[in-house]
Amino acid sequence: MDSTTAARWIGIEAAPLAADGTEMLPEAAFGEGEQNHLPYDCSNLLRQAGLRPTRQRLMLGAFLFSKGGRHVTADMIYTEAVAADMPISRATVYNTLNQFTHAGLLRQIGVDGSKSFFDTNPGAHHHFFVDHEDRLLDVPAPGVAIEQLPQPLPGYEVVGVDVIVHLRRKSG
Ligand SMILES: [Zn+2]
Repeated sequence: MDSTTAARWIGIEAAPLAADGTEMLPEAAFGEGEQNHLPYDCSNLLRQAGLRPTRQRLMLGAFLFSKGGRHVTADMIYTEAVAADMPISRATVYNTLNQFTHAGLLRQIGVDGSKSFFDTNPGAHHHFFVDHEDRLLDVPAPGVAIEQLPQPLPGYEVVGVDVIVHLRRKSG
């Protein structure tokens, strides 16, 4: 699913997510029919997730959800927005991605201490991560078989298991 975007991952530095990435400016919602020029309209998707379809959310949603399954960092989306002459701040990109995640539209996947990807498929599945290339890909079927899970702590239940299989290119 990621072959079209794989090349763009290389060389783009991922920054830690700004936990306090504020700077949410008040903005007007689109008027009736105003968003028709967008190549992809995700306003219904946003509404179903309980998010008001603001201009910035619609613009970033078009990047995220119009290209099939994607695994992106906040910096990748910011770079795409700048390349498309979208007037948006880095903090707003971080904020919007976090809002989408909390609304269940994205799943955040941490691949090491400082790097987070956002997956446009929020359902349960496992991943390959290619070290040194910063590429996150879905593990194809039949996926990962987990034969034994530990007993959860008393009073807790297992809600999910996320496996990241780390890869590196063979030498020689
Ligand atoms: Zn995925």
